[in-house]
Formats: sequence, C-alpha cells, structure tokens
Amino acid sequence: MSVDRINLLNLDRPAMEAFFAELGERPFRATQVMKWIYHRGVDDFERMTDLGKGLREQLAVRAEVGLPEVVADQPSADGSRKWALRLADGNTIETVFIPDGQRGTLCVSSQVGCTLACTFCSTARQGFNRNLTAAEIVGQVVVAQRLVGLPEHPGDHVITNVVMMGMGEPLLNLEQVIPAMEVMQEDNAFGISKRRVTLSTAGVVPAIDRLREHSEVSLAVSLHAPDDALRDRLVPLNRKYPIEELLAACRRYLEGKPHRRITFEYTMLADVNDSPEHARRLLKLMRSVPSKVNLIPFNVFPGSPYQGSSRPVIDRFRDILVQSGVTTITRKTRGDDIDAACGQLVGRVQDRTRRSERFAVRGVGA
Ligand code: SAH
Repeated sequence: MSVDRINLLNLDRPAMEAFFAELGERPFRATQVMKWIYHRGVDDFERMTDLGKGLREQLAVRAEVGLPEVVADQPSADGSRKWALRLADGNTIETVFIPDGQRGTLCVSSQVGCTLACTFCSTARQGFNRNLTAAEIVGQVVVAQRLVGLPEHPGDHVITNVVMMGMGEPLLNLEQVIPAMEVMQEDNAFGISKRRVTLSTAGVVPAIDRLREHSEVSLAVSLHAPDDALRDRLVPLNRKYPIEELLAACRRYLEGKPHRRITFEYTMLADVNDSPEHARRLLKLMRSVPSKVNLIPFNVFPGSPYQGSSRPVIDRFRDILVQSGVTTITRKTRGDDIDAACGQLVGRVQDRTRRSERFAVRGVGA
C-alpha cells in the first residue's frame, strides 16, 4: 500500500471537491464517490461504475477507503451494541449503538483515551495516546451503519443521531472533529440534521467559541456540579474554565439561534452532588442560559470512588427542576451489561501519560 494514498473518509464534501479538482475532474465527482461509499457501502473504486475507467484507475493509486477493524462486537440484552475498533497503529477505541424506538443513536469516540481527569469517568484512567483523525471518527459511523444494516428505503436512516460522547474530549480535537461532523450531516453521506449531531464537552471554553464559528451542531455540557468548589473536584478542567465563564460561552453559542438550547449533563453521585440544595443551586445557574438537563445515573466501574444516587434521590432532584419549568430527562442506562454505558468506554489505549500506570499500581483513589 502506498503511504501517500489519501483516505477519502478524511474529506468532507468541499475537501473532496478540491481533491477531484486536483485530479482535473469536475466537482460532482465528489458526490458520486461519497454516495458509493456512504449510501451503497462500496469501497472498491473498480465497482464505482459511473466513473470513467481512467479515473477509477487513478483513484486506486491515489486514494483509499481506510476503515478501522472490528475486533469485538458485543450485543447487550437491551438491544444496544458495542464495538471495539482497532486502528492502524494498534490502539483500540469503542463505539456504541443505542436503538430506542424509531431513534438509533451512535455514541462516537473522538480521542484514544482522554487527557482530562474527571474523577468519575473510567476513560480518564486509561490515559491518553492521541487524537483521532477525521477518517477514524467517520470510520466509526461507517462501520456501525454497515453492521446494523443500510436502511431499507433510500432516505430512511438507521442511525438517526450521533453523540460525540464516547472516549475523549471532542473540543480538544476540533480540527478533526469538525470535518467529521460535516460528513455526518452531508446529504451524500449520512444526512443527519445538525440538531441530531451532539457534541458533548467538559467545558473547553475557547473551543466552544471556535466550534460556533464552524458548526451548528447541538451542544451538551458536562456540568455535574452547581458550584466551582465541587466542580473543581469532579471535573478538574473547571479550575481553568470556571462555571461563570463556561455559562457565558454557552450563551454565546446560542446567540442568533433562538430555538436552540444547551443540554447540561449531570451525573448523579450519591451524597456528592445530589441533594435538593444542589438542585436549587443548579436551577439558579441555568436561569441565564436557555437549557435543559440530562440526569445520568452513575455507572460504576472497577475501583470507582463513587456510588450512584438511588432512584428516589434522582427522582427528587428531577422533580425540583421540573417544578421550576426545566425540561429534565433522566437518561436510561443502556448497555451496562457490556460496559457500554456513559463513562465505561475504555478501549485499549497505548498510554503516553503515566496515568493508567498510577491507577494500576495504587488502585482506587490514587
Ligand atoms: N469529554 C466529553 C464527552 C465524553 S463523556 C464530556 O466530558 O462531555 C460523556 C458523558 O458521560 C459526560 O457527561 C460524562 O461526564 C459522563 N460520564 C462519564 N463517566 C460517567 C460514569 N461513570 N457514569 C455516568 N456518566 C459518566
């Protein structure tokens, strides 16, 4: 395989058009090739019969459709499915498909591991290796779509929603995440509307502003605490970008989008952030940002220093928000029998930090 072959999954439509222009071809070649790859599941240029023979040969030399390799395919009793995908360099990432009635949500990873050290997340303990390329992000959607089946009718979608909530912090890899999300929204590829592509962040403030300049996807913010002292402990990134700055960035993100709202994610940790007082303080914060709340039952993992809040405690917290008119959804825990729930995705990270080692040696609470 020639090393300078370009992986077409890296290219959003404008980039693909530029690529064809370089080959001396017209821009519509880009949409033809995208339809072959994304709608028909064809990677072999020889089979792209509406391209001339000369172009097909040129593509075989210059380009490729490089996909991650599926090394595990685990179905959950509740219908969700988790895949472990091995990348060309040997790292493994995880992707989860969550069907729910007419909706099919794919939870996609953005980095190999994570550099943030949120204390309730098991990905954090794997350490970090590198950012994913756009092709590796798009590749997760391609692989998932081919395994859950292409839609029966053209225009139908099996994957209706994508959430950038797998391994990693997507806003620390914006350069690759933005074109990847463009491909998700592209009609000639997955055709998912901007509202149904959600980027979840721990709160990288300057990157929220950059995202806003390039994209209109839905934004979810992992808040988890209504004050800085507590959030500093749960999401250490808060020491750099405290809550008030984060909320201001959220307001800027919604400027000029009157019908859009931010989703605040709030993982319910027993006796840590789940009291009625926490709920009332959260309400106060939220007043300044058009928003709704996703309460996430905590998913335990080996050595996790927290317990999940009980159901009645979660319901009490939710009721306080709902009574004040805040749309609040308690996220269903899906795929926990296959460790595919929020915060349980680990993959096989060739750790470049010392973090995984530290946890392995000192264990819990290190
Ligand atoms: N880095 C991004 C996206 C990945 S996490 C972010 O922080 O938003 C996706 C969501 O799952 C986040 O809200 C995260 O805080 C939450 N989460 C992490 N670990 C969890 C756990 N053990 N139980 C429940 N939710 C968890």
